[in-house]
Amino acid sequence: MKAVRNWQEGFRWDETELLAYKSDAAHFENITRQLLFNAPHGLSTQLRYFEISPGGFSTLEKHAHPHAVVVLRGTGRVLINSEIHDLAPFDLVTVAPWAWHQFRAEDTSTFGFLCLVNIQRDQPVLPSEDDLAKLRRNSLTSSFIKL
Ligand code: MN
Repeated sequence: MKAVRNWQEGFRWDETELLAYKSDAAHFENITRQLLFNAPHGLSTQLRYFEISPGGFSTLEKHAHPHAVVVLRGTGRVLINSEIHDLAPFDLVTVAPWAWHQFRAEDTSTFGFLCLVNIQRDQPVLPSEDDLAKLRRNSLTSSFIKL
């Protein structure tokens, strides 16, 4: 890998492939992934750039591994457990282990963010019927979640 890969218009980077968000069937809409750093030179983390088109959303999930997120583009919202937060460029989001989380773009905004993860990490868990019942008991999270 080159020491420098330049940023390109449209939030692409040199020599960096535009990938599907996930290869499994977990529910999501209108979201792409670019793997900016894949544990280079023995670093134990990956840095990904996710971009959600207007109205799209990431999978509602939880897992043991944390996320450290930096918003780069547009506006959106994140659900973390029972809280919903508005997000704009350069806001920072920490997703703690086993916190439910889901990112959404606003209907009129392309929403992009960096997400740092350990290269060795567990698989996401999707909500059970019981988990969904709990999330739906709260009117805020009930109206936010997309499945
Ligand atoms: Mn996650």
